[in-house]
Amino acid sequence: MSNIKFEEFNISEEILKAINSLGYKNPSEVQEQVIPIALKGKDIIVKSQTGSGKTAAFAIPLCESADIDETEPQALVLTPTRELALQVSQDITNIGRYKKIRAIAVFGKQPISMQKKQLKQRVHVIVGTPGRTLDHIERGNINLDKVKYLILDEADEMLSMGFIEQVEEVIKAVPKNRITMLFSATIPESIEAICKQYMINPVKVEINPEKLTVDKIEQICYEVEEDKKISLLKRILYIDNPDSCIVFCRTKENVDSITVQMKNRHYSCIKIHGGMLQNDRLDAMDRFKKGEFRFLVATDVAARGIDVENITHIINFDLPLEKGNYVHRIGRTGRAGKQGKAITFVTHHEKKFLQAIEQYIGMEIPKGVIPTKEESEPFRDEFYKKHDAKPVIKKTKASNFSSDIMKIYISAGKKKKIRTLDIVGTICNIEGVSSEDIGIIDIQDNFSHVDIMNGKGMVVLEALKNGSIKGKTIRVEKANK
Ligand code: AMP
Repeated sequence: MSNIKFEEFNISEEILKAINSLGYKNPSEVQEQVIPIALKGKDIIVKSQTGSGKTAAFAIPLCESADIDETEPQALVLTPTRELALQVSQDITNIGRYKKIRAIAVFGKQPISMQKKQLKQRVHVIVGTPGRTLDHIERGNINLDKVKYLILDEADEMLSMGFIEQVEEVIKAVPKNRITMLFSATIPESIEAICKQYMINPVKVEINPEKLTVDKIEQICYEVEEDKKISLLKRILYIDNPDSCIVFCRTKENVDSITVQMKNRHYSCIKIHGGMLQNDRLDAMDRFKKGEFRFLVATDVAARGIDVENITHIINFDLPLEKGNYVHRIGRTGRAGKQGKAITFVTHHEKKFLQAIEQYIGMEIPKGVIPTKEESEPFRDEFYKKHDAKPVIKKTKASNFSSDIMKIYISAGKKKKIRTLDIVGTICNIEGVSSEDIGIIDIQDNFSHVDIMNGKGMVVLEALKNGSIKGKTIRVEKANK
């Protein structure tokens, strides 16, 4: 963290207030470097890892420059995975909350019609995976005429996942007089080529990449045969007794099988991989983020960019064969100044891959001696004791705003011909409440959500208890999320 203050960026009160609610005291290095350049309207290439605070580095200038009254989207963010699209759209919503910025995520395996409806409302920022974003563009669901910021997040990952053509098609569809920001952990030639072709004199920023692996994360690896891995896992879990842990596997089949074996031992675990239904994937991630489960068994879909607080352990049940993935996986722990531990299992045949990883991170990973059953058994009771304790539900970032902002549910939406103006009019008629107190309004077919700001939520709830909008009786309550 730097010594400069967010106030020095010359950004509006609304954004500063949100940054404050999120608990950010000083800008991170990437924010310090990127925000002033982006606010000046220059193209920028940023080489930085996830966990550096790069989302806010683009979210702050996007939200600052957005014109809240404009009805068409003004910023488009592309991300490689659906989970990341959702997380980034939530981060932007949080930073833009007091300015009433609406950010939505669009991604595959979710009904396109549902997203189309969302896109019809006033949306300031769209965050999407390349394929689905292109699909919406081609169907005419997104008007790109007003887009002034284009962000390519985790660009190397998008390219390595084979999205290059879709990414280029999207770039071509966005107006040329825009600001383009590209974030990537590595800048291979294919990315250089994209930058040359689609960016104008980009400023290059590099944030020291290797710190991530060595400083805060204790690393250890065990040489173990395939059929002994599960018993090694058990012993390590007993001894280390992690609070919150991701177990990474190479294939979805392994994720399925390890999850079953862990569940058979009554471990509190949930899984995520690319073969699952989208809603199940999001639900699993959400529940793990909240702390409902101690263990997440995952393929690399959960490795990039995913931000879960207080993960104490990463276990590479299967060694990642792609060396960059090692860094991404272990970077899920040791975040925000906390310590973490990364434990890697390596079979005899995989030693050459381990060496490649060690070369890549510039250090030898200490080798551990496999604990015996006798050594681990005494820790068993402690492990299950922690297990049986009621999980402490972690606060989400959005909950930092909750003392000030209440989301209310109104049992009427588009089908009852409710429009934004009707909601604003009704709420402003309540004594002591003005339009300043109304935040983001989201009108769906059969219901609406409205953020009530400045601690006026209870006043509005009380006043609308037996109320109506446009002569239609409505039910109003505090929204679940
Ligand atoms: P990112 O690299 O965008 O995934 O961010 C990593 C984590 O750092 C997230 O949990 C952010 O909420 C958090 N973060 C971002 N900027 C700051 C900041 N200036 N101070 C403290 N935490 C931050």
